[in-house]
Amino acid sequence: MSSAKKIKRIAVLTSGGDCAGMNTALRSVVRTAIYYGIKPFAVMYGYKGLIEDDFVEFNRRSVSNIMNRGGTVIKTARSEEFKNKKGRLKAVENLKKRKIDGLIVIGGNGSFKGAHLLCAESDIRCIGVPGTIDNDINGTDYCIGSITAVGVALDAIDKIRDTVTSLERIFVVEVMGRECGYIAMRVALAGGAEEVLLPEVKPDFKKICREIRSAHKKGKVSWILVVAEGAGHGHKVAHDIEKMTGYETRVIVLGHIQRGGAPNAIDRILASRLGSSAVTSLIKGESDKMVGIIANKAMLTDFSKACKKKQETDQKLYRLLKILEA
Ligand code: ATP
Repeated sequence: MSSAKKIKRIAVLTSGGDCAGMNTALRSVVRTAIYYGIKPFAVMYGYKGLIEDDFVEFNRRSVSNIMNRGGTVIKTARSEEFKNKKGRLKAVENLKKRKIDGLIVIGGNGSFKGAHLLCAESDIRCIGVPGTIDNDINGTDYCIGSITAVGVALDAIDKIRDTVTSLERIFVVEVMGRECGYIAMRVALAGGAEEVLLPEVKPDFKKICREIRSAHKKGKVSWILVVAEGAGHGHKVAHDIEKMTGYETRVIVLGHIQRGGAPNAIDRILASRLGSSAVTSLIKGESDKMVGIIANKAMLTDFSKACKKKQETDQKLYRLLKILEA
């Protein structure tokens, strides 16, 4: 790819849902670009800002003291306009008028679908950096933000456990993750949950309730059931359990707190590595790809493959949870 046109100016944006570590990735992109003599521009509000021409030229100092902060300082947005070719052509126009020839998109699989179309419709080179708590992207073992999100949810579960054991109740805890059970599985295992409902495993609800009743008769008085949002609504699950067991059941939907907080050390290192790899990939002439981490190595995967539906397939972890549950 050494014959590729030399990149002189790049833009970077964050898109879709925010997550811890986006700022760290942004810092890495900006500083790596400057290190290689490339002028970096930040695009505010993701694809919305790309269409509305909301660009800011960044320098090393623009990204000082942000790597430990949650959210994204260049903001994020969801843009319906970018889903249409007309909107994307406007975005390309705005990039071209600044002579920007490379774009780095930090976001989830929806963002990469958009980036893939941008690559097909223009000569702008584009590389994606996976940043989403859902960890639902192919071509990377971990997305930036997902490990921090598990930690945040785990902290909540530990606190809920105090109440569960004191009140002697069943608690249903709904966690995020869209159609992927990554957060639910990890948090259930690390939090010692009695049960987990995953989008990938059809639950035998009657069996779960039978087990609760039988264990209750033997003296077990408290349960935590983790429900992935893609497996069902926490309120409905709690209602059904209460109806089928006769035991009082409470529900907690953790919601957006799982997106917040400072990125942990693993996410900061991951974001620093992937942000930097995205820039060097552009320099090498790569495009239409996402840079991910596979077996601790930075690897490129075509956008078309990265955005295909990924599910939690770690059956070994699921079996382990079943062995360890009380
Ligand atoms: P998260 O997983 O955190 O929600 P995401 O990147 O999947 O992140 P989306 O809202 O799905 O979040 O996508 C972000 C943006 O990407 C959308 O607002 C839209 O502008 C663009 N996008 C999503 N899907 C497409 C598509 N099929 N075609 C073109 N652009 C798209």
